Amino acid sequence: MPSIFSKIIAGQIPGQFVFRDELWVAILDIRPVAPGHALLIPLAEAQHLAELPAPTLAALGDRLARLTAAVKAATGAPAVNVVVNDGPAAGQEVPHAHVHVIPRFADDGRRLAWTATPYADGELAAWATKVRAAWR
Ligand code: AMP
Repeated sequence: MPSIFSKIIAGQIPGQFVFRDELWVAILDIRPVAPGHALLIPLAEAQHLAELPAPTLAALGDRLARLTAAVKAATGAPAVNVVVNDGPAAGQEVPHAHVHVIPRFADDGRRLAWTATPYADGELAAWATKVRAAWR
């Protein structure tokens, strides 16, 4: 069954498009953290970013840089949060990979809810070894 984003891309559900091309679209999030909050969405439907086709992934940097610039210019925000909820355990609600671009202002009272926890002695190096071993 097509995702809600595929239905928006197909024109079956309304969306406010920022741009669309052969690989990516951007729309405004209907429940924004702040006005101008945009979603960068691939036409290809996969739950996780890493599962997208190589040409789609190759174009991601260009589209993200341009969308970030557009959101900052349109909102006057000096900064953005770029967020990917890459799987349900990370808060992903729509199972179609996408990137949030959220305009941010100093002292806007918004924050990403995560808690940084220092490593115990020796754990930083041990985890680096594990992640390096998994690199492909
Ligand atoms: P995530 O939790 O990363 O999957 O985020 C999904 C986002 O999609 C949420 O921020 C929703 O507000 C947004 N969203 C859901 N339905 C629509 C829609 N019809 N149009 C625009 N944004 C939507």
